[in-house]
Amino acid sequence: MDPIRISYSADCRLKTAHRLVGTEVVEIRRNRIKMKRGTVLEPIIIEELVEAGIHVEFIGDQQLELVCNEPGRVGHPDGIIDPALSQRPFAPWLEDLLPDAFHKDLEHNRPVLLEVKTMNDGSFKHFKRKGLEGHPWLSRYEYQIQSYHHCLSDPAMLELWDSGDFKDLEANAGQKLADGILLCAFNKATDEFAFQYIKSDKKFFDHISGQLQEMVEWVEAGQLPAPDHDGRHMECQDCPFAYCCPAVEQLLEAEEDEGQEVEGTLADTVDELGMAYDQARTMEKEGKDRKTAVKEIVETDLGIGIFKTPNFRVGLVSVNGRETVDMDELKVIADELDFKIPKKTGKSFTQISVLQRYGVK
Ligand code: SF4
Repeated sequence: MDPIRISYSADCRLKTAHRLVGTEVVEIRRNRIKMKRGTVLEPIIIEELVEAGIHVEFIGDQQLELVCNEPGRVGHPDGIIDPALSQRPFAPWLEDLLPDAFHKDLEHNRPVLLEVKTMNDGSFKHFKRKGLEGHPWLSRYEYQIQSYHHCLSDPAMLELWDSGDFKDLEANAGQKLADGILLCAFNKATDEFAFQYIKSDKKFFDHISGQLQEMVEWVEAGQLPAPDHDGRHMECQDCPFAYCCPAVEQLLEAEEDEGQEVEGTLADTVDELGMAYDQARTMEKEGKDRKTAVKEIVETDLGIGIFKTPNFRVGLVSVNGRETVDMDELKVIADELDFKIPKKTGKSFTQISVLQRYGVK
């Protein structure tokens, strides 16, 4: 059986089992684009960190391949930060964002595992408030990160991969790998960075590994596990096995009487436009959220007036209220005069409703 990719190992177990048994993959186009965008952005993000002073080893074609057993897993961490070659203080934009625990590791000459994740605006905001915890998608990264750390810290695992380079790095630094991992999050909508220092957690790693091992045993016995979600989870929207998932099947059955399937070129055109509309709607919401965030900061810290930042003129300006008819008052007067306020009903109209389907191909 092929090893499970570490980045997939906190996925729904039915999805992982399908990958193991080689079920046909029906990739969703928007998922492919998302993945490609993430792959293109990650080296650029690392380049930014390097330019700001963080020295990252094992990137590009030097990327490490880590292997874990029981069950067999393989993964490629984004890099390891070399404390000796990093140039501190880092660029001012970065210095203040980095967690204290990370600074301490570098002061003590400990190499630090780096993981980079690109996020949409909603996930990024969650990450800034609460880290990976409690988010239906981000929480899955925790296991990936813990697995990389575990593979690199466990001497038994080190024998499984053929590169001695990491040991050289530890030997040069004179210290073992730091006990925490630096997670760098990048907001694809606003180009912002945020960081979290994640402590290694062997118990958590063992718990998920146990669940995976159990799943592998089912597969070896010729069975597929039950789906982990009800078909509406974020993970299901992009799942390449949604087309054969019993949870999604149930949802589609329930939806069967609602609406008519459109096929052919017309379906493709409407689908493309729906996708573009959905993205535009998300961006519009993100724009509104940002505007509110700027307003809150200006109101709290600056007050009324125009202020200049390196790139913008921002200002809190007062706007006179608009004059409108006071309907409550008018109703009171109309009652007193026994006068009926004339009303008219507008023409009925149609409006478009675009809602995402779950588990579509
Ligand atoms: S659609 Fe959802 S529940 Fe079904 S296999 Fe995929 S991730 Fe699991």
